[in-house]
Amino acid sequence: MGFWWRPLGVLAGVLLVALILWAGSGWVAALGFLAGIQAFVMLRRLWQEYRLARWLENPEEVTPPNAMGTWGDIFYRLEKLQRRQRDSRSELANALEQFEHAAQAVPDGMVILNGSEQIEWCNPASRKYMGLDSERDSGQFIRYLMRQAPFLEFLDAVDYSRRLVCKSPVNREITLSMQLIPFGENKKLLVARDITDLERVDAMRRDFIANVSHELRTPLTVVGGFVETLADAPDLPATESRRYFDLMLDHTRRMQHLLDDLLTLSRLESEEHSLKDEPVNMPELARALQTEAESLSRGRHRISLRLDSSATLRGNLQEIRSALGNLVSNAVRYTPEGGEITLAWRERDGEGVFSVTDSGEGIAAEHIPRLTERFYRIDRSRSRETGGTGLGLAIVKHVLTRHGARLDVQSAPGKGSTFSAIFPASRIQPYSSPESGKVIPFREREQAAG
Ligand code: ADP
Repeated sequence: MGFWWRPLGVLAGVLLVALILWAGSGWVAALGFLAGIQAFVMLRRLWQEYRLARWLENPEEVTPPNAMGTWGDIFYRLEKLQRRQRDSRSELANALEQFEHAAQAVPDGMVILNGSEQIEWCNPASRKYMGLDSERDSGQFIRYLMRQAPFLEFLDAVDYSRRLVCKSPVNREITLSMQLIPFGENKKLLVARDITDLERVDAMRRDFIANVSHELRTPLTVVGGFVETLADAPDLPATESRRYFDLMLDHTRRMQHLLDDLLTLSRLESEEHSLKDEPVNMPELARALQTEAESLSRGRHRISLRLDSSATLRGNLQEIRSALGNLVSNAVRYTPEGGEITLAWRERDGEGVFSVTDSGEGIAAEHIPRLTERFYRIDRSRSRETGGTGLGLAIVKHVLTRHGARLDVQSAPGKGSTFSAIFPASRIQPYSSPESGKVIPFREREQAAG
């Protein structure tokens, strides 16, 4: 209503003046006055229309003209409209920019396809996974760019619940899971997710289950077989049945050993199981391990100990004992009779090194990096014969990693092996005198002890 008051007021005023003129000076004067006003209004309108036309030609750069009266009102409304449009355009641009940033940050490959399966847009990750480029490939038919048969079948199926698992066409090491999502009018969003790590974990899990089942099958079959034999032949001579029982016991122990190792590994892997730190007297532990080696060897090897340091280690005694014990038992098991085994504890550049050197069969270079994998064995039957589970070095690696330590293997076929557990300086505490608190080098201490 605000628009009408002024023009109607002006019109009423003009008519009033015309009426007064008519009454005072006759109708010619009144008509002349009205004609003059009409001519003024037309000229003004023409001028304002010209200004409006000029502004409409370039509304982005020029602000709407200024005027009084109804034209002023019209221009003001136009300016408001222009401002609102400008605001919503910048809001749209902001939203678009945000979307672009988000799409760039998304780790999955994303491609928008129109109804004819032409690429309308794709994000940077789609280049990494599918070799697509937003600028180069926009408008191209995706079928011509990705021609692998399973992908074409997947597109044909138009089954939005299906996922296609395939190798990336640009990098065979990457496994992708692709999905089509319908949206808008007849459009589709193709999403490609990198599931390489998931696949790897899944393969590891499958391998692990297969390995454990395989390891358990032999002893279970043996024990089952003997139980059946004993059940079918109750009158078996005592010596025979004794032999069967011994073998059954042997295989049962092997299963027990395997389960113990599996439980140890799973305990080490569980995050809740935090490391308990305590001072570990390494010279004492090394002597205990030497005794253990002698009892395992039963006189078949010459076993010696070299203590070049009295340093204490900060760590979990039980875990360290089990890890170093594994290295010692491996040396005994893989060194033929008459061989030599040396255990040593020393400091080197501040680090603490516990090593087990044997004169055994040695290991070819290609096996060394894989020794700490679960169930990895160079010679399966040799490992089984000696009661191995294939998990010993996997446990060693876990324990050492938990202590910030590393395993070093030096070996060559026929030349024996040295397995060294190298502990970081931060875990080593050199021996110091109980009286003065001063660090005493190992040699001096040994000499003082006589
Ligand atoms: P296992 O229970 O089979 O001994 P480990 O994980 O302890 O399992 O060791 C993995 C493999 O590494 C063994 O099967 C063996 O082939 C090899 N190995 C380990 N220690 C030695 C060694 N001192 N000398 C030769 N080979 C070794």
